Amino acid sequence: MLTPWMTGISAGLGAIAAAGLGVGGFAYASRWPSSRIFGTALIAPQQPAEFALTFDDGPNPAWTPKLLDTLAARDVRATFFLLGSFAQAEPQLVRRIVAARHLIGNHSWSHPNLAQISSGQIRDQLARTQDMLEQITGAQVNYFRPPFGARRPAVFRIARSLGLTPVLWNAMTSDWSQPSFTRIAEQLASKIDRLNRRGLAANIVLHDGNHRQRNGNREPSVTAAGLLIAKYKPTHRFVTLDAWA
Ligand SMILES: [Zn+2]
Repeated sequence: MLTPWMTGISAGLGAIAAAGLGVGGFAYASRWPSSRIFGTALIAPQQPAEFALTFDDGPNPAWTPKLLDTLAARDVRATFFLLGSFAQAEPQLVRRIVAARHLIGNHSWSHPNLAQISSGQIRDQLARTQDMLEQITGAQVNYFRPPFGARRPAVFRIARSLGLTPVLWNAMTSDWSQPSFTRIAEQLASKIDRLNRRGLAANIVLHDGNHRQRNGNREPSVTAAGLLIAKYKPTHRFVTLDAWA
């Protein structure tokens, strides 16, 4: 579903963009996290000892509370990209996330592919979610991650017009479909170590929610998060994404 992230390709894609992208290349680049064709986004700085855990597609009443317990037990702060429609159904859980001093961000209202809907629909998806999150928490929301990482030039322009900084990632695996938590953690750890060797911080995506159902099973992802925290907490500083803005 999502293109695996690779390094060192954005310059190459820039050259392709300059030469004019074919339709296939356009669709490809629109889901490529490090591609800058559709505007820049926050990914990760040159800080190899730093580590941002980010969780998408919640709030999930079945698994987000367990994740919050895991984070609290290790005194780790994370970033949660929430769906507006799920937040509307779980306002207390949203407030619990914020009360635990995690950062929340906008992940659209209902998780459409924003590269495939109109500018008016994109604005509606982002603005509705923004209003909902700010109404629930009473605080401004400043970050946005596009569902599937999918984008076209209008997506980041609209996000910025709403005061949102676009965010992507540099470490992900198919945690939403992988039943083995050890495999999820191992795959991410190898990506994290590779980023660190290149002098980069890791911006890791896991899913505490399932955008198709509000209380989908996310036990493998939540357990993998605990394993990654245990492995990296002794050597890394866990930050929320605002530390890098
Ligand atoms: Zn998502």
